[in-house]
Amino acid sequence: SIVVTGATGHLGRHVVEQLLEKVPADQVTAVVRSPEKAAGLAARGVRIAVADYNAPETFDGLFSAGDKVLLVSGNEFDKGRVAQHRVVIDAAKAAGVALLAYTSAPGSLKAALADDHRGTEEALLSSGVPYVLLRNGWYHENYTENLGPVLEHGAVVQAAGGGRVSSAARADYAAAAVAVLTGEGHEGRTYELGGDEAWGFAEFAAEVGRQSGREIVYRPVPVEEFQGILTGAGLPAPFAAILAGVDASIEKGELVVDGGDLSRLTGRPTTPLAEAIAAALKG
Ligand code: NDP
Repeated sequence: SIVVTGATGHLGRHVVEQLLEKVPADQVTAVVRSPEKAAGLAARGVRIAVADYNAPETFDGLFSAGDKVLLVSGNEFDKGRVAQHRVVIDAAKAAGVALLAYTSAPGSLKAALADDHRGTEEALLSSGVPYVLLRNGWYHENYTENLGPVLEHGAVVQAAGGGRVSSAARADYAAAAVAVLTGEGHEGRTYELGGDEAWGFAEFAAEVGRQSGREIVYRPVPVEEFQGILTGAGLPAPFAAILAGVDASIEKGELVVDGGDLSRLTGRPTTPLAEAIAAALKG
């Protein structure tokens, strides 16, 4: 079976959708916390397994020998994600899976956000389980899914200076995961995945302005000010610090991923940022 954790999340849903274009539904298992969120997948014949990274026993017997597993990194930043992910790695090892692919972060990213990913990579490599590291770069959607305030204020406010980001659509990263899960010869590989074209926030603002017909400027602010803006908007302080740290990394170029692994794995160019902006403005 091909087993996907986080299957009711944004990325996981794309992965399952794309898997269903390639393999019969009964060969796909979606690991979910809330079966009610997976009712649509179950109706289409996808096997559903209920498990939670916080409850190791829920992974007992979940995997079978020979499975290919995609471990989608969790989003509970305050719950010790390395230990959570190790639960999945341990279960995969016990079962003797054929492959465990993990959605990591770019090797160039030194922000605090990357620490859990480096820790999980170490756990995976030392486990001896056949692995693939999918070091996903940033999603277009991180910026396009929240255009409301940008349009309202006529400004993109970030603390990234003139730094650039090689983002791609979630669907692109999902396609890379599907290529690895359904293809051969990926064991032991580390893929640095990013969009074909890096962009800066001034370009991003200009493109949103062009497509929306409004004047949108990029207003770069210092990291401390950005953190204050985020907490002022209601984000918990630790999360604001993490996001501000990401911007500091962007300014240093740590989210430029230009080796071309993503388009090579998927066999097509990555989704242009302008397309993601258009989709967001339409939706
Ligand atoms: P989502 O937040 O949409 O999905 C996270 C998934 O992880 C959900 O399916 C969620 O389950 C599942 N999950 C979280 N905690 C647990 C747990 N304790 N046990 C089992 N499952 C759990 O994120 P995306 O799909 O957009 O991205 C996938 C991951 O990539 C994120 O979780 C994060 O680690 C990372 N990320 C990457 C970004 C990038 O730009 N590259 C940006 C943001 C995040 P449920 O559906 O039940 O909530």
